[in-house]
Amino acid sequence: MEKILEQVKKDHVKFVQLQFTDLLGVVKSLTIPVAHLESSLTDGTWFDGSSIEGFTRIHESDMFLKPDIDTYAVIPWLESPDGNTARFICDVFMPDGEPFEGDPRYILKKAMAEAEALGYEYNTGPELEFFLFKRENGLKALPNDRASYFDLTTDEAYDVRREMVVALEKFGIDTEASHHEVAVGQHEIDFRYGNALKTADNAITLRFVFKAIAQQHGLHATFMPKPIFGINGSGMHVHQSLFDKDGNNVFFNAQDPYKFSEIAYQFIAGQLKHVKGIVAVLSPTVNSYKRLVPGYEAPVYLSWARTNRSALIRIPRYSKGKDKAVRCELRCPDPSCNVYLAFAVMLRAGLDGIKNKLTPPKPVEEDVYHFSDEKLKKLNIDTLPASLWEALQEMKKNPIARETLGAHTYERYIEAKTAEWDEFRLHVTKWELDKYLEIF
Ligand code: GLU
Ligand code: MG
Ligand code: MG
Repeated sequence: MEKILEQVKKDHVKFVQLQFTDLLGVVKSLTIPVAHLESSLTDGTWFDGSSIEGFTRIHESDMFLKPDIDTYAVIPWLESPDGNTARFICDVFMPDGEPFEGDPRYILKKAMAEAEALGYEYNTGPELEFFLFKRENGLKALPNDRASYFDLTTDEAYDVRREMVVALEKFGIDTEASHHEVAVGQHEIDFRYGNALKTADNAITLRFVFKAIAQQHGLHATFMPKPIFGINGSGMHVHQSLFDKDGNNVFFNAQDPYKFSEIAYQFIAGQLKHVKGIVAVLSPTVNSYKRLVPGYEAPVYLSWARTNRSALIRIPRYSKGKDKAVRCELRCPDPSCNVYLAFAVMLRAGLDGIKNKLTPPKPVEEDVYHFSDEKLKKLNIDTLPASLWEALQEMKKNPIARETLGAHTYERYIEAKTAEWDEFRLHVTKWELDKYLEIF
């Protein structure tokens, strides 16, 4: 603690933002003057949890936050000559000092502790795609942007992306690649993989950093999964592996054609088995299911493969000597999810495969989008739920989500998402009017 207080002084910090996420993964923040940081680190900072989505009921609303010192960073765009603003990501506690069972970060920690008890550290590398929109009489996809995948653009988006990478560095996030995505106005900036708690922290940081930087340019960065009809949506593919206590990748097996170990096959078998029951957490909005349709590089069918981008799970090609990089990429999550909860259910689904020694079906290397219904049936290839409603019905049948989220969060989650679906289905959309108004 001494060290962090010294650092704060050195960085001329005047205010401290205490951040945490609600049930839906939205970052909440409480600002304290730096003079209160020491007591926050020792005794916590109290707040009223009753107004936070998915937290508590009124009669038990007192809770406190404790900053995680590993997440300290000075917020670059709030730097000011009269003092800077730093942030910490916090854990949430109940008055009796126990962790709050509905804190998403705690739910992920619990799932990771289960993996640790089996001897594994869970690593993830999420790839968050996003769109930049211009604010001009409403929002429009960045109009001077005519680029596509990997195009080197000299337009405004390039500068914005550069600034985003620099800002991430200030949060201690090591970016690996930054590129234009397939769709007009769409981008992706990837950071280095790491243990799931660290990368979940990084992912929520990335979302708030990108929004702030875009705003400074009069732009809006959106992580909405399918903002524009007829072109690719934004996914959050997650690369995953398990390391043992010595840092060896237990997914690696030199003898296998995919360089995959038995453990790795069991892990993907578990995710394939449970994905329908957890996808309401991974792809959590009404809009998410408009992305998960054939033809836009997003998964629809429950299959796995090496190169095939229509597969739900992809095994990136092995590069010689890179044993640590052997991994599987789950492609259905999107960046509107609560990343902590998403990683927690993904891990538990994979561990279930290991515990029960499940075997995955054969890989399907062809483009599944073009398979006929008969062929899908013959190969026994199932599909993801087609709507949030279907996903919620699957979630109710699957034990993994309930066990991982715990009764409190599981119930709040189903409640909030059912309300979201009901709100949507009451609306009469423009599509319906265009389709039916004249003919009927
Ligand atoms: N944007 C695509 C998706 O919705 C993914 C494109 C890619 O393979 O990077 O998942
Ligand atoms: Mg991508
Ligand atoms: Mg990818």
